[in-house]
Amino acid sequence: MKGDATMTISPIFAKVRAGEDLTQDEIIFLLSITDSEEKEKIFNLAEELTIKYLGPEIHLRGIIEFSNYCSRNCNYCGLRLDNSKLVRYRMQPEEIVECAEKIADLGLKTVVLQSGEDFWYTKDMIRDIISEIKKRTDLAITLSLGERKYEELKVWREAGADRYLLKQETVNQSIFAEIKPDSVYEERFGILKQLADLGYQVGSGGMIGLPGQTVSDLADDLIYIRENPVGMAGFGPFISHGDTPYSSLSNGDGELALLLLAVARIVLKKVFLPATTALETLVVDGRKKAIKAGANVIMPNMTPINYRKLYEIYPNKAQTTLDEVVDLIKSIGRVVGKGHGNTLI
Ligand code: SAH
Repeated sequence: MKGDATMTISPIFAKVRAGEDLTQDEIIFLLSITDSEEKEKIFNLAEELTIKYLGPEIHLRGIIEFSNYCSRNCNYCGLRLDNSKLVRYRMQPEEIVECAEKIADLGLKTVVLQSGEDFWYTKDMIRDIISEIKKRTDLAITLSLGERKYEELKVWREAGADRYLLKQETVNQSIFAEIKPDSVYEERFGILKQLADLGYQVGSGGMIGLPGQTVSDLADDLIYIRENPVGMAGFGPFISHGDTPYSSLSNGDGELALLLLAVARIVLKKVFLPATTALETLVVDGRKKAIKAGANVIMPNMTPINYRKLYEIYPNKAQTTLDEVVDLIKSIGRVVGKGHGNTLI
């Protein structure tokens, strides 16, 4: 479905500036724009709104990808259980805590602990890692461990975890069933509600370029986030991995991913939006373009170098050093966030 042929961007921009919510058709219209001048106007509006709602700060979150073991078989992901070609690793709890300390020493204010769905790390182990990081540093902690039980989420929140990142990936139920054959749509969605109830700042988001996905689906992804207690939303293009069932699929469209990011800013207002690594991987200067199109978060990779290439959710993952990220932010007239950068929703 394409947007209404009679629509133009001016009245939509006026609506946005007046703080009104856009309709699904208006969102689809914006996502369908191909004219480069019009796209530029959308990017500029998105950056203007970012600064108006959230200020000039770009928040840095140091990510530790601490285990690439996974018990699931998501068809898009290189960490999937059945990918026997991948060499697996697990960081020991003390190694994770020490890595977090290094992140704090570098002046970052948030650590993101991400892994495959690896139940080797029990409820108590994760709890102890959280407590220890909180004891030794002033870092905000984001967890991204996949679908875990309410009781675990509760204990980790009580131990001091601040945020949880669990992308819905797509709100289209049949695409979800196709790409995540061993997950249940309602369960993943239900965890998002539980996280919000427990007082976590919640991150969701999705991929662009999934099999069968249309701009109408992408508009639905944005509306879902608008209607739910989501403070952060990560959107990046799907990137095909050779050792998955999706090895012959084309990558997602990086330019569409950039446009989606800008439209996400316009639709979601104060929601934090990262410049994703997947976008940087597919689009030249993707991070810079993302900041100029509404992103206000960057997640520098702080995984110890010997493990880094093994966390291969997709191939050729872009690598940027912290210094490069800081220089980039300054070069485009923005500033590095000094506080914890808590989300506003
Ligand atoms: N196991 C955790 C973390 C997953 S990895 C979880 O399930 O939540 C973090 C994100 O990487 C995923 O949410 C997904 O959006 C993205 N990702 C995984 N494989 C990808 C691929 N092939 N292309 C683009 N993004 C991918």
